[in-house]
Amino acid sequence: MGRVLAVANQKGGVGKTTTAINLAASIAAAEVNTLLVDCDPQSNASSGLGLLKDPERLSTYHLLMGLAQGEAALQKTELEQLWVIPAHKNLIGANIELVDAERREFRLRDALAPLRERFRYIVLDCPPALDLLTLNALVAADAILIPMQAEYFALEGISELLDTIERIRMGLNPSLTVEGVVLTMFDDRTNLAQQVTSELSKHFGEKLCKTTIPRNVRLAEAPSHGKPALLYDVRSRGAESYIQLAKEVLERNGVVFEMPSADSDQSEEKQVVNAPRWKRWITERNKLVTININER
Ligand code: ATP
Ligand code: MG
Repeated sequence: MGRVLAVANQKGGVGKTTTAINLAASIAAAEVNTLLVDCDPQSNASSGLGLLKDPERLSTYHLLMGLAQGEAALQKTELEQLWVIPAHKNLIGANIELVDAERREFRLRDALAPLRERFRYIVLDCPPALDLLTLNALVAADAILIPMQAEYFALEGISELLDTIERIRMGLNPSLTVEGVVLTMFDDRTNLAQQVTSELSKHFGEKLCKTTIPRNVRLAEAPSHGKPALLYDVRSRGAESYIQLAKEVLERNGVVFEMPSADSDQSEEKQVVNAPRWKRWITERNKLVTININER
């Protein structure tokens, strides 16, 4: 069964979409079937993967309104194992149209259920609001990944989100967990960043991801070329840091990066992804990217 991760924070501009695109792409590059679902009417994740605006195309709106099945809305991307369900600005309407609808908080969960067999990871890019769209994402998700900037008031902003998660856990989705908190646009040279990191570490403990995402211009440029950073400039610190984050997330979920040896204990419940690709990723990164493009 696939794992559904919602990338959410009601604060705007903290790096949700950048994280959703690049995390999903990095997981897909490890030869894991991955789906990115754009749950934001701004549709930045869709355009960031090169999909032009098209109101006719099946999108998250159609899924939420029960007008289409998830399978029909899948779009291919330049990466062989990454698919996307795009959004369109008509998604704003769903917030209003669903208010009186039956099972309004479960629409996305229900729509994604049949896709969980096909994708090991489903990443949801949420809008900057605690609205019905984010609520649908958090009800559909197994876990939430929270991108945050290391600012002085970072923790204050996050308490409302944590309260919301708690309320969802008590009612709509008891199994929702916090996958992690990831620091974005991070500059470890500043004292402030270090102070905030140590505060967050006290507060979140293990949940604070070891990987931090640096401020990196390649990450900001890549979406205008319709590519994840690893296809735009795989050698950039930005691309590298998201590969590292993907590795951390997969490892947290019990995925190991070794090929099973002949005498490995079969009873051990470990998921194994294709380690040679990851190794090759580290030693011959450009080559891996070329392979993925050409194989399509
Ligand atoms: P919104 O709340 O509007 O959905 P968001 O949380 O999805 O925003 P992004 O769109 O990912 O945030 O990022 C906001 C801006 O910052 C974008 O222009 C993006 O390109 C840029 N950005 C994000 N992360 C980085 C980074 N690590 N280095 C440099 N620029 C970044
Ligand atoms: Mg966004």
